[in-house]
Amino acid sequence: MARYTDAVCRLCRREGTKLFLKGSRCYSKKCAFERRPTPPGQHGVRRRKMGDYGIQLREKQKVRRVYRVLEKQFQNYFEVAESHPGVTGENLLRLLELRLDNVVFRMGFAQSRDQARQLVTHGHFAVNGRATNIASFQAKPGDRVEVRESHRDREPFKLAKETLRSHQTPEWLTVDAVTLAGSIVSAPRRDQMPMELNEQLVVEYYSR
Ligand code: SF4
Repeated sequence: MARYTDAVCRLCRREGTKLFLKGSRCYSKKCAFERRPTPPGQHGVRRRKMGDYGIQLREKQKVRRVYRVLEKQFQNYFEVAESHPGVTGENLLRLLELRLDNVVFRMGFAQSRDQARQLVTHGHFAVNGRATNIASFQAKPGDRVEVRESHRDREPFKLAKETLRSHQTPEWLTVDAVTLAGSIVSAPRRDQMPMELNEQLVVEYYSR
């Protein structure tokens, strides 16, 4: 499975905003963006004027990077979003939110999406009672996602039990911190998905 393996803090500096890709480090003084908010590279501090295309491209990259999806896979999501009834941009975000790795992250079982992906691919989770190790698995309303019983005393889940006490679970999910299981109550509405992402710019980027 291909994935991005370079330093992720560069991505925040490139997009000019914190993408929260490293769990607790993102909230600490060690955050690279807090220390150096300029784009990476030799010419990072130079100011560049962006046209419409540049703005759309940057937003597309930002959304893709937040959800940790590679270009080709992101294009595939866009095509599926276009083929569904409703607003394409919202459909796109909803598809990304319902990826199993994102659901695991949103439920608070992992500190970042990267960690969630790793935990899923290592086989720690079951969906509706069946072991599932595919990070891009599309969950749907009514699905039950749980840490497999024999895996619950592993180190990452001991930490998750601690952090779940202060975790803010989105309204479209429910989580039981004792059994480390959760359910998808409904598909997320637009106002329940990240408001800082401008999906319309992504639609414009692919509609050029
Ligand atoms: Fe981005 Fe987190 Fe790195 Fe800060 S610590 S630059 S928010 S990934």
